[in-house]
Amino acid sequence: MSGYKREAKMSDENRKRVVVVEDDILLNKALCKAFTNDGYIAQGVSSVKEGLAAFREGAALMVVDIGLPDGEGFSLCRQVRESGGTPVIFLTARDDEMDMIRAFDCGADDYLVKPFSMAVLLKHVQAVLRRTGGSELQEFDYENLHIDFARKRVLLCGEEARLTPKEYILLELLVRNRKRVVTKQMMLEQIWDAQGSYVEDNTVNVTLSRLRKKIEPDPYNPIYIKTVFGLGYTFGE
Ligand code: CA
Repeated sequence: MSGYKREAKMSDENRKRVVVVEDDILLNKALCKAFTNDGYIAQGVSSVKEGLAAFREGAALMVVDIGLPDGEGFSLCRQVRESGGTPVIFLTARDDEMDMIRAFDCGADDYLVKPFSMAVLLKHVQAVLRRTGGSELQEFDYENLHIDFARKRVLLCGEEARLTPKEYILLELLVRNRKRVVTKQMMLEQIWDAQGSYVEDNTVNVTLSRLRKKIEPDPYNPIYIKTVFGLGYTFGE
């Protein structure tokens, strides 16, 4: 297994993080072990909620089961794809054509039916990463704003902007969806619901207005986070 040893020596920085969302605990463990042995950093979780939270911490690829205790993998896939380029591979016992079509309709990159061979799954993962790899934004610049996604740091004119975790996640969500409108519903689902936090009606507004005060030269005339009246918010132009 010299290949394994070589891969295992890679520093964490070079290893891609794979999130496995599977409620069959034995299978989940086996998958994580196979990914780790193949040189990835693997994180196993077993629900839609945990999957979203793990995705928020950064993932190069998600492997997702359809039937999960708190919902279907489809909704997780949709939310992952709405917030960026992270590829999703479905792994499921369902071989129904309609399920496959639904999976691709909500943004899946690949679909494997159980039982499957671990070696074949690893090849599918490699192929998907090769096709989509590098599409994930690492750093972002716009006007005087600089974001380093790996370090979760935001600089304004070269000075660190001290954002709370929620403010940072909100900004990242807007930037990763720039040129699109992000609705308050999306913010609630992807930031607050994903972490199981209790939300008051006004929470999104309060967080947005604090974020604007920290990054906008004039919060009442924003250049970064713009309001699209009646719909939501958009980043930049
Ligand atoms: Ca399941």
